[in-house]
Amino acid sequence: MAAVLKKEIRSIIERSKSNGWILEPDAKRILKLSGIEVPNYVLAKTVEEAVKTARAIGYPVVVKLVSPAVVHKSDVKGVVVGVQSDQDIQRIFDRFATHKAFVGMLVEEMAAGLELIVGGTIDAQFGPVVLVGMGGTGVEIYKDTALRMAPIRPDDVTCMINSLRAGELLHGFRGEAAIDMQALIGLMTAFSGLLMKLADHISSIDLNPVLCSPSGCVAADARIMLAE
Ligand code: ADP
Ligand code: MG
Repeated sequence: MAAVLKKEIRSIIERSKSNGWILEPDAKRILKLSGIEVPNYVLAKTVEEAVKTARAIGYPVVVKLVSPAVVHKSDVKGVVVGVQSDQDIQRIFDRFATHKAFVGMLVEEMAAGLELIVGGTIDAQFGPVVLVGMGGTGVEIYKDTALRMAPIRPDDVTCMINSLRAGELLHGFRGEAAIDMQALIGLMTAFSGLLMKLADHISSIDLNPVLCSPSGCVAADARIMLAE
């Protein structure tokens, strides 16, 4: 598949090859370059930079461990949401810095909404495939997901969402406001386009969670696993 990748995306892939996967700040940069909304973030390499960034974004913030040795951050207490003060940033930074292969601390804006997962894999038979479902811890419990071969169009996204058992939640349930469906359609079609372009280079992409609210959808986590 001869897809034209932006130069910056190509260089991120090149320098990530030795890790086998693309670190969250780089993965989010790729999303941003592809028209997918992400929370404001900075990769802070020093505690001073982390504090400065948290103040600039405005407390409370989310902080995350960035290390090529840590794919699942929560498993090692590598994510803290709702961080309130400079002191907390300093304490958590010191803890993160003891981790093997510590690269830095991602300091990020808090986002809110229903948690969805948007994923992509390269199926041996079908090629690039897009998945959507209810995200967060619910993923494993409910197994409520929809799959389509990429590329997908806006109508496909609507069908996929409507086929979820949790679809009602997204359309507004028991007086709750509906999520911004146009934003979700935009995010998923952009994701499909990106997946097609990256198909030769990756084995999977997971945006988990995508936080969806009445005012938009943002990818709060991004994991891109590279092909062997
Ligand atoms: P993991 O590597 O463990 O999947 P995540 O980046 O997904 O780490 O963070 C774990 C959880 O923290 C998410 O499922 C979400 O509930 C919450 N979270 C992460 N980023 C944000 C954010 N920017 N705003 C609000 N909550 C967030
Ligand atoms: Mg996650």
